[in-house]
Amino acid sequence: MSALAPALVLSCEHAGNRVPRPYAELFRGRDSWLRSHRGWDPGTLELGRRLAEKLGVPLHWNDVTRLLIDNNRSLDQPDTFSELSRALPEDRRREIIQRYYTPHRSAIETSVEQGIELHGRVLHLGIHSFTPSLNGQERPFDAGWLYDPARPLEHEAVSGLIRALEARRPDLVQRRNEPYLGTDDGLTTTLRTRFPADRYLGIELEINQLHPLGPPERWRGLIEDICRAVEDFQHQNSGI
Ligand SMILES: [Zn+2]
Repeated sequence: MSALAPALVLSCEHAGNRVPRPYAELFRGRDSWLRSHRGWDPGTLELGRRLAEKLGVPLHWNDVTRLLIDNNRSLDQPDTFSELSRALPEDRRREIIQRYYTPHRSAIETSVEQGIELHGRVLHLGIHSFTPSLNGQERPFDAGWLYDPARPLEHEAVSGLIRALEARRPDLVQRRNEPYLGTDDGLTTTLRTRFPADRYLGIELEINQLHPLGPPERWRGLIEDICRAVEDFQHQNSGI
């Protein structure tokens, strides 16, 4: 990493499970889906907001349920619209894209552009959370850092972030590119095609939902430790 701290851009693509009123009918009887990991990423808005506050940077968040449209998928992917929204007529799907997808993604892209102009380099941290067990498969770790291993600066930044969090919380099990690959389709993967590797670092932090859904005191403590770790990482890279 160079002596300059990258500008930080924070985002939460799955911050909530809100259903916009015109689409309420689609979700009738689906409350359990909406409340589960299928509907949103619990805890990410709290973590994202606290990070934004502590680090003095804006947070881009989308609180419309991913079951309407998934802001962390490209439009050509089969699961961008869920099985509940996929069969809508094309004009309504277009409206969903215009209202609940493009604004979030464009705002982040603009923020990245501005950050690169001002600071030369941007670290985009997408905040997500994962369900501890999926399709019978246990995911026995606390945090996953998703990135593209072919981008040396992303690899280096993730190493720094892991070390910084480990120093604060040696009890946490952290993994690289689990439970998903950072190169799978997603917002950071799209943005890597728009910005060069020495300007844009697209990293996603995935937190095990056991934490936000566990005892509130412990979750608040973890939020503070993650904030301090990201601050430590920024200071270590500021060249001060
Ligand atoms: Zn997510």
